[in-house]
Amino acid sequence: MVQFLDLKKIVQQQREELLQAMARTLDSGWYILGNELKSFEADFASWCGVGHCIGVANGLDALTLTLRAWKELGKIKEGDEVIVPANTYIASVLAITENRLVPVFVEPSDSTFNLDPARIEGALTSKTRAILPVHLYGRLADMPAIMALAARHGLLVLEDSAQAHGASLDDRKAGSWGHASGFSFYPGKNLGALGDGGAITTNDGELAETLRALRNYGSHEKYKNLYQGVNSRLDEIQAAVLGVRLKHLDVQTELRRRVARRYLDSIHNPHVRLPAWESPAQHVWHLFVVRCEARDELLAHLTEGGVQTLVHYPIPPHRQKAYSAYAGQSHPITERMHAEVLSLPISPVMADEEVEEVVRQVNLFRP
Ligand SMILES: *Cc1c(COP(=O)(O)O)cnc(C)c1O
Repeated sequence: MVQFLDLKKIVQQQREELLQAMARTLDSGWYILGNELKSFEADFASWCGVGHCIGVANGLDALTLTLRAWKELGKIKEGDEVIVPANTYIASVLAITENRLVPVFVEPSDSTFNLDPARIEGALTSKTRAILPVHLYGRLADMPAIMALAARHGLLVLEDSAQAHGASLDDRKAGSWGHASGFSFYPGKNLGALGDGGAITTNDGELAETLRALRNYGSHEKYKNLYQGVNSRLDEIQAAVLGVRLKHLDVQTELRRRVARRYLDSIHNPHVRLPAWESPAQHVWHLFVVRCEARDELLAHLTEGGVQTLVHYPIPPHRQKAYSAYAGQSHPITERMHAEVLSLPISPVMADEEVEEVVRQVNLFRP
């Protein structure tokens, strides 16, 4: 069987280095907010090309706490509107509503799966304060256009880079375009911890300071609380693991690109639409998502043929029970995407024969 993602195999390749990093942390006697975190934050900030990185407990917190920090800094307030792609993963929306801000769903571009700048303008109101573009599946959103639009209208931009570690456009990486950016280090992400983890990157020193307090009970100095903060820290052990894994990420991204190129060159099936990938947008292929009108049949055919696939995602946020208040909205491009998308196996550890088997099975499909 071709597994969707063989995490065990990925981690095994780095086993010795990971064990060393974990042993070093174990022996240090210091497990929260210490040198491992400082060192990973510095490495990740410089790798992304920004001034600051703040480690937190997970990707959802990275987004939620950034919006919260902007509230504390008086840049945004309850009831303000945040533009978000209608086809995103639920976490982007949860971060907005958790702060009692209002998500305004904007349709993505049909070819890139990412927020369509041309549609943002039409969604702006006097209450719009921020845009939350998501670099979905590992491809950067159209950040030059989004940043220009944000500047014209005085809006904040928070990138959701949870699926896009190292994705770039014009040699600028995800995490360095917006006023801030949230990353997830969930194990299955391109840069994954061995547990939960997340981080915010930003060039804004004041925001970074606020976030460092918010993640730690609202406190910089023990027992002195500036904000009603939370406990959302990136553990020393996870920071040490991420430090090791970051060193391998560029090579692993190239290996993902090799698989993607093979799929793009070799999958020829009139019923299967391949994802767009044109330079200079540097995709990091967190997911390789094809579209098919008979998606469920294609999924069944591949399962039958021993190829594991997943759907990212079966239900858009505005159709979720949790967001029943938005159920009346209609976002046809998004709704069609959710009915047609299918994620093929992709990872840095796929054997050539596995890639060929996926190609063969997809090419055999007839609805
Ligand atoms: C994974 C993910 C998140 C949330 O990250 P967690 O670490 O799982 O909390 C947010 N946004 C997107 C687009 C994601 O894929």
